[in-house]
Amino acid sequence: MNFDESPEEAALRAEIRAFLEANATRKTGTEADWSRGPVDDSEDAAHAYFEKTRAWQRTLYDNGWAGITWPKEFGGRGGTPAEAIIFGQEAAKFDVSAGFFGAAQSLVGPPIMRHGDQAQQERYLPKLMSGEESWCQLFSEPGAGSDLAALSTRAVRDGDEFVVNGQKVWNSEAQHADYGILITRTDPEAPKHKGITFFLVDMRTPGIEVVPLRQATGQSHFNEVFFNDVRIPAENVVGEVDGGWPVTRTVLTSEAGMIGSGGGGASSFDSLLATARAFGRADDPVVRQGLAEVYSREKMLSWMGLRMQTFVMHRRGTPPDPSVMKNFSTQSTEIKVNLGVAVEGPGGMLDRADAPEAGFWQNLVLSQFSSRIGGGTNEVHRNMIAERALGLPRDIQPDKDLPWREILKA
Ligand SMILES: Cc1cc2nc3c(=O)[nH]c(=O)nc-3n(C[C@H](O)[C@H](O)[C@H](O)COP(=O)(O)OP(=O)(O)OC[C@H]3O[C@@H](n4cnc5c(N)ncnc54)[C@H](O)[C@@H]3O)c2cc1C
Repeated sequence: MNFDESPEEAALRAEIRAFLEANATRKTGTEADWSRGPVDDSEDAAHAYFEKTRAWQRTLYDNGWAGITWPKEFGGRGGTPAEAIIFGQEAAKFDVSAGFFGAAQSLVGPPIMRHGDQAQQERYLPKLMSGEESWCQLFSEPGAGSDLAALSTRAVRDGDEFVVNGQKVWNSEAQHADYGILITRTDPEAPKHKGITFFLVDMRTPGIEVVPLRQATGQSHFNEVFFNDVRIPAENVVGEVDGGWPVTRTVLTSEAGMIGSGGGGASSFDSLLATARAFGRADDPVVRQGLAEVYSREKMLSWMGLRMQTFVMHRRGTPPDPSVMKNFSTQSTEIKVNLGVAVEGPGGMLDRADAPEAGFWQNLVLSQFSSRIGGGTNEVHRNMIAERALGLPRDIQPDKDLPWREILKA
């Protein structure tokens, strides 16, 4: 691993620090930090948090720190991944978050830059980057998740418009979104990857109904989105009609990179140790064994993260496999959060305000599952490890070349 910075990188770090000191306050590590998330489970709190993240995105944009790796021709900074990593390292020390605006840039920017036409690029990219318009991803369906290309939402051409009918699900922040990236079935006779069309859709179009899904944590991060005779102008197609799969792949690749770059994040071992001490369990041999396991796993993860950074920043060494990192990371979270609740004893069975530490560990126990599913499930990543790392035969895909109309639907 190589931690040496070039003089240019060191100067950039100083510039970033100066920007953050002037525009934000340092994290306190307590509930006083707004960037931890909504203050409670209410829709008002979710909305207030969303608007704070929008304001931070605007600050980034106004100061030239939005879209660090985006090409200059699209209004970005034209910087390198190394510069984006340095920005992330410094920003992690401050009470700031672009929340879902940051994720939306990774999901929506690349397909428009790579496959969109000039009119779409000029119309949508600046307001995406400034946070003036918010976006969501309308991909998954009740019968299409890991096997996304099996999707059923239909779009039928009618003159200069397409008429869309169907249902999407698990759409993060769709209840706050102005626009969505949407994939639909336009040719049911073609094999499943061939008859898909990719749209940009205004979420205020008549016929769109967004229904928030309440999660076990009490929050509503996800939604169901229903389309009933929704009319979308043909000019909102990105790429070719029936040629939406390569556009979709661009989004999925960018999404995987975004999730992978979160690996090796801030340590929470200290919080676990503090809880064990507060409950008088830090001398219990079984608890100590668990603490040692959690500590060791966090160290291994942070070293994997550093190996990844060294590769990205200096093109040296071999990067760890992202699928290995994702599985290791989510397993480590499971071990850690279960121990957090266990050391609380009987109080660990309570929830939210009734539970110790206002339900800090209980909330993590309930929300841990999302990281095992989002960005490709752990099982799908294990398939990738089998195929890419171990060289085992590919998963059989018996319906790959069949017309979509003939394949077995979930
Ligand atoms: C935090 C989070 C945010 C999300 N945000 C969005 C969003 O904004 N927009 C959006 O469209 N979707 C979103 N999703 C949905 C997400 O993309 C899907 O949940 C995911 O693709 C899995 O699909 P599924 O839920 O239909 O499960 P399925 O694909 O039905 O999987 C069910 C089970 O079968 C296993 N399985 C499936 N295929 C295989 C295989 N080939 N080999 C072995 N096991 C297999 C899976 O691992 C899983 O355990 C989000 C999900 C999460 C958790």
